[in-house]
Amino acid sequence: MRIILLGPPGAGKGTQAKSLALKLGAPHISTGDLLRKNVKEGTGLGIKAKDYMERGALVPDELVAQMLIVRFSQPDVKTGFILDGYPRNMSQAGVLEGILKQNNMSIDLVVSLDSSEPVIIQRLSGRLVCSKCGENFHAVNMPPLKQGLCDKCGSKLYQRADDKEETIRKRLAVYANETAPLLEYYQARNLLHHIPADGPAETVLNQIIVLARQKQ
Ligand code: ADP
Ligand code: ZN
Repeated sequence: MRIILLGPPGAGKGTQAKSLALKLGAPHISTGDLLRKNVKEGTGLGIKAKDYMERGALVPDELVAQMLIVRFSQPDVKTGFILDGYPRNMSQAGVLEGILKQNNMSIDLVVSLDSSEPVIIQRLSGRLVCSKCGENFHAVNMPPLKQGLCDKCGSKLYQRADDKEETIRKRLAVYANETAPLLEYYQARNLLHHIPADGPAETVLNQIIVLARQKQ
């Protein structure tokens, strides 16, 4: 199963993608996670990407494209994928189409997770991320068992540099201007389904699974 998750920052793409990956046995490919890993490891790509990410801007298309091509050359992608954070603009949709064509693949389903602005701001401004395994928590909605530490691996939790209210607003504007046009693009290809995503993660997940089963 090959799924693209669309939706504004804070809609829950990462959370849903992780659960779906487990359920469907396909890798979760998050360009945001891959970029953050590069920043953390201080790679050439990470050094170039860091400033864009902290400002809530998009990292230049060529950089992300290269990274994605490398990811798609790994064998696990043969089993399908849950793509989270890519494409983010029309040009990236074209890049993805090229990569898929080269690998003889096509997308089965595009899900738009639809969240409202107050919910997004509440979720992102309280978000805590594990510095080691990337697991997400929330100071109020989903607190870790031990304050400041990851339930899964015990490592320290941190607040993402781009999860400040001002930067969240910037990311929302980028989504509206650059990413939202993709909804029409996938609608025209009869792949798009909308799911309301302000509610509990489990409810959202069940709705995506129903859609995925219909496509299998
Ligand atoms: P969110 O969807 O919550 O904004 P992500 O982890 O997906 O969080 O992305 C964080 C940041 O990483 C983005 O604001 C952007 O700077 C960069 N990024 C992630 N994916 C892409 C992409 N496909 N193209 C360009 N930049 C990206
Ligand atoms: Zn962890």
